[in-house]
Amino acid sequence: MNYKLILLNIIFFAVILSCTTNKKIKATDSISKLEKPNIIILLADDLGFADVGYNGCKDIPTPNIDALATNGITFTNGYVTASICSPTRAGLLTGRYQQRFGFENLPGPRKKTATVKVGVPLSEKLISKRLKTIGYNTACFGKWHIGGESGDTDLFPLNRGFDEFFGFLEGAALYIDPLNSEKKYMRNNNELELEEEYYTDAITRESISFIKRNAKNPFFLYVPYNAVHTPLQATDEYLKLFDTIKNPNRRLLAAMNFAMDKSIGEIMTTLKELGLEENTLIFFLSDNGGKPKGNFSYNLPLKGEKGQKYEGGIHVPFLVQWKGHYPVNKLFKKPVSSLDIVPTIMIATGLETDVTMNLDGVNLTPYIIGEKDASPHNELYWKRGKHFAMRNDEWKIVKMDKNIELYNLQNDPNETTDLSEKHFDLVADLLAIYKKWDSKNIPAQFGNSKTEFPFEEKRIRRTELKR
Ligand code: CA
Repeated sequence: MNYKLILLNIIFFAVILSCTTNKKIKATDSISKLEKPNIIILLADDLGFADVGYNGCKDIPTPNIDALATNGITFTNGYVTASICSPTRAGLLTGRYQQRFGFENLPGPRKKTATVKVGVPLSEKLISKRLKTIGYNTACFGKWHIGGESGDTDLFPLNRGFDEFFGFLEGAALYIDPLNSEKKYMRNNNELELEEEYYTDAITRESISFIKRNAKNPFFLYVPYNAVHTPLQATDEYLKLFDTIKNPNRRLLAAMNFAMDKSIGEIMTTLKELGLEENTLIFFLSDNGGKPKGNFSYNLPLKGEKGQKYEGGIHVPFLVQWKGHYPVNKLFKKPVSSLDIVPTIMIATGLETDVTMNLDGVNLTPYIIGEKDASPHNELYWKRGKHFAMRNDEWKIVKMDKNIELYNLQNDPNETTDLSEKHFDLVADLLAIYKKWDSKNIPAQFGNSKTEFPFEEKRIRRTELKR
């Protein structure tokens, strides 16, 4: 064999090898695409800690939410990052404390010094946008509330990584239109559509349609129900099931809650019928606590309500199910945060996380499956205006209207006994940790921080105990 022939042979085999390798890469890609889990986030609005069956609710059955607990993990110390609707969603979808980008308040007037629009700034990447880069089809059906209310179209869902949107941009919407005027919802970026169904049912109808249309490719479905936020509206079909509840407002809340639970059951049935349940990672949580005198959703035995840094405002029903991957019917008692949802999704779908993303959440999978035994977080933080709180293991400091209060949540999970005077040094140490965290935040860019609700414990307890 002469020199030229050897060279030709080498080139020939190199070409064959390179084609084979390319083929292998493509095959691997398509297999991993098939194996990528679908992701669903079911987000309730203002659902109190006490108003799910698995937390002991007696007057409203929630069998489908309870089934997620039975088939998955219950986070008994699950927190969101704010006690009100809008900031909590900004934290949830970015995996970053929303104070990092000045999103402390409800959408409202821009501050004179603001460097961003009213909403999650475009410099922040939502999980929807990240999942688009690896081939996911994405949809958001329900309440948006993180930008675009004042007309900034670049903050609309379709410009933040969602392929489809059906819902409303603001903080609340009608479920039924009693005056029969035109009840309209936005589809995608600009079309307004008349909706005749009860709105919770309409959100579910759209969700089921999306799942069916995407059964053969990985999808991310974000379902921010506006249930059970006010206005209190329910159909007769749901209302008549709760004749025994005397308080008419609580009866309406019960019917709304039941409708949402039924909807979740329909979504789960769809997944099962399509054989997708085992390949779908599902989160369920509330965006903040209930407001007993507002939407009549209860948080007992937790102290406080929506709009407060006590447990009733931020400690929420929080579940995850991933059949075949996660244990079933398990309680996870260490504190976790809604911030953890983004990194958990990223790792589960094959996206990589790195320090430049400045994520504040933690991938929960190793903790859930028992690979890691430590607590996912050393501290969790909450802040709006002058009000703040921090949980560090068993201890929690809370600054509401008075001095900084201190509670030991391990011994006193319902914050009955303020220990700040007894452990003065500990309060100072915890405050120093909080200030270090806060030093990395930027000032609120819009809205009003002065509207934190006053704490009226007796009034709340009276209402809740009447049921
Ligand atoms: Ca809310």
